[in-house]
Parts: sequence; structure tokens; C-alpha cells
Amino acid sequence: MVFKLAKSTPVYNFSKYHHPSITVENGSTIEIETYDCYEDQIQSTDSTYESLDWDKVNPTTGPIFVRGAERGDILVVTIDAIELSDQGVMSVSPGKGVLGDQIEKFETKIIPIRNNKAIFDERLEIPLNPMVGVIGVAPYADPVSNGTPGSHGGNMDNKMITTGTTLYFPVATDGALFALGDLHAAMGDGEVSVTGIEIAGKVTVTFDIIKQVALANPLLETVDKIATIASARTLDEAVKISVADMAKLLQGKINLSFSELTMLFSAVGQTEICQVVDPLMTARFVLPKWVLASYGVESFLGE
Ligand code: CA
Ligand code: ZN
Repeated sequence: MVFKLAKSTPVYNFSKYHHPSITVENGSTIEIETYDCYEDQIQSTDSTYESLDWDKVNPTTGPIFVRGAERGDILVVTIDAIELSDQGVMSVSPGKGVLGDQIEKFETKIIPIRNNKAIFDERLEIPLNPMVGVIGVAPYADPVSNGTPGSHGGNMDNKMITTGTTLYFPVATDGALFALGDLHAAMGDGEVSVTGIEIAGKVTVTFDIIKQVALANPLLETVDKIATIASARTLDEAVKISVADMAKLLQGKINLSFSELTMLFSAVGQTEICQVVDPLMTARFVLPKWVLASYGVESFLGE
């Protein structure tokens, strides 16, 4: 059976103090409905900056208590499906995003979704790359606003977080308290305007738990790649953490010296930008799985 969780009671931060919206067994599949990042407040270009309730941004649906998840475990989340609504929205604001110094006023753009394309205007249809912007678990320390990414996940705006991807999060509190929101119909690396094509929808995920394996930051796995994900004040720091995390993950599993492992990373690893517009910057370091297979590494987590 597939559980369903409606978007009716959104939350605005990741916190171990939240009361769960629903409790599910490990192994459960759940369809999670989400608002867009403006909590569906922008339905036409009549919306003004003043007409929006800015306390209602980046809502997530959850948190979900996954029975059996405890501090020190890893919550494994596989994205089975992403279903988008039929209309997305983008915006720009003065001072926000990479070109915010050149933006004079708040503007929005409504973008219909038809036949698996985002209709940008009468000349341009953009192929969709549906993805989940905000996804994670409760952090161990203070609550973290849904707008900020971190070692708990959160607003990573990582376009690899899409259908078929499996994520690994460090569990900090009983039940993990998983939540997600901020779907994008399409987004480019960097998210330079501060918005992807923001859209409401439904995400179906399946949970698993790996008991008592240490993980500093989120990881993801696709059919042919693994990636470490790190967020920091600067992109430089985020890159360094993501590469160092990959080294930590594979040292002792790939039988190479640290120097050789570093050379291997430099030869076949991709440093990629997730986003450069949130309170912390997010980078990922991506390795193809055939490298792991060549060294006989079957599982990159645990012993
Ligand atoms: Ca976002
Ligand atoms: Zn977004």
C-alpha cells in the first residue's frame, strides 16, 4: 500500500521538535503532496511583492516519522515518482540572485506545463527536468529554516534529486523526521535567479534505514553515479567538503593511497554546482559507478 500525505499543514523548518504529521514503518512508500515554494500564492502576474505573505515561503510537507530510524543511522530515501501540477512560476527580486544588483523590481512569470514541456513563451518550450529543491531530515542542533541547506539536507536545489535517485541522510533524531517541498519543473545548475520553474506537485518516495553508519553530509546515488553533497558559506568551501567527503567514503574501500585516490578523483570526478543563491552555497562531487566496480567496491556505505 502507498501512504498519502496531503499538503494542508506545511512546516517552515527542519526541527527535531516538530510533531510528526504521519508515522510509517521502515520500507514504506508514501506519496507526498507539496505546495510550490510560494505556498501557491502566485497564480497570476497580478501578484505584487506586497501582496505575498513572505512568512509562507519554502513550505515542506511532513515531517514523516520513519519507525526504527535512530540517531547514528542513515535514512535512505528513493524517489519513485514526481508528478507536477500544470502551471509553474518564476520570479526575480532586487538584490536577490546572481544579477540581483541589476533587477529593478519584483516580477513574476507564469509558466504553463504542457506535454512534458514548460511553455516559456510562444517561441520557447523548455524540456522538463523535474526535481526536488528542499528535502531532508531534522538536524541534531537548532532548527534550520527550509530556505537553508546543510548536513541535514534542506534547500540543496540539486538537480540530480529527481526520479530514480536514492538519497542518504544522517539521522539525528528518532524517526528522522523527513520532509520535502520546493519542486521545480526545470532548473539549471546554480539557480541564478533564485527560482527554478517553481511548481506544486506530488513526490512518491520509499524509505529504508541503514543502522549505525556514520555520515557527515547527504549523499545521492543514481543508476550510474554517486555524489557527495556539501553546503558552505562559499562555493570553494562547499567543493572542498564534497571532495573530502568522497575521499572519506572510499578510503579503505578502494585500495589506493590517499595520493592515488586524489589523482583518481581528478581524472574521473566531476565537481558540479547545485546552487549559488541560498544562504549557503551547495556543490556536489560526482563519481561514475564503473570506477567503484573496477575496484570491486560493491557497497560504498558501511564496512
Ligand atoms: Ca530552493
Ligand atoms: Zn524552488
